[in-house]
Amino acid sequence: MKVMIWVDAEGVSGITSWEQVLSGRSRYEEGRRLITQEVNAAVRGAKLAGAKEIVIVDCHGSGGENSFRNLIPELLEPEAEYVFGSPWTTYTIPLEQGFEVAIFLGFHAKSGTVDGVLSHTVSENWLNFYINGEPMGEIAICAGVCGHFGVPVLLVTGDAATCKEAKATLGENVKTVCVKEGISRFAARCLAPQEAWKKIEAAVAEVVKNPPFVKPYRPNEPTTLRIEFTAPEYVRSYLHESVHQVDERTVEVTAENFYAAWRTLWRR
Ligand SMILES: [Zn+2]
Repeated sequence: MKVMIWVDAEGVSGITSWEQVLSGRSRYEEGRRLITQEVNAAVRGAKLAGAKEIVIVDCHGSGGENSFRNLIPELLEPEAEYVFGSPWTTYTIPLEQGFEVAIFLGFHAKSGTVDGVLSHTVSENWLNFYINGEPMGEIAICAGVCGHFGVPVLLVTGDAATCKEAKATLGENVKTVCVKEGISRFAARCLAPQEAWKKIEAAVAEVVKNPPFVKPYRPNEPTTLRIEFTAPEYVRSYLHESVHQVDERTVEVTAENFYAAWRTLWRR
């Protein structure tokens, strides 16, 4: 099996505040260590299950020069490769080269989720995001990119709200590991990180060894994506020939499939 792991920060065990996940903030270095250790646990699990190739993509925009460069290189588990610096959802090479398994580590729930730790969709400026009229979050966006290339997401880790959203979006068969239960957006009852690492290692090993039946995620086609921003000034940078403005703070695009629509909207 060839395994690709996309890593975000907000759903990592022990993380409950922006201070831990935004570059330059007081506890950012602590956050990076926690993300790195969780990645290492996932890599150990994939190795244990005999994965042939393991690629980890750092997917967290922490701001400034640390965006997509959160993992601490010298602490990383060997026998895997790590992608740094590639903007969110743009590194699709493994998907094009026959990787069979996608895993989402440290993900978070969509904007508006009351008990979702650090819940948001893409940016605090996005009030709501819709795929074909349904409110969706980053799990659906990332799974839609993987699904376009025929790759299913077999495991999602994060807080309880994230695990629930993963099953609602990708189906009951997707495996989840819940590392914390949100009390609010900024409070959670957490497993000790070392306990979370054990669970993540075991879950990755299990899905690589015995992949659950999960279909690649493909929204109905043609596909319409809509962003409702929190304020009108965010609209302008998204407008161009095929993205149109719906009202003062909403843009929409329709294309032949999810990926084409996403790449039109998200020009990185
Ligand atoms: Zn993030």
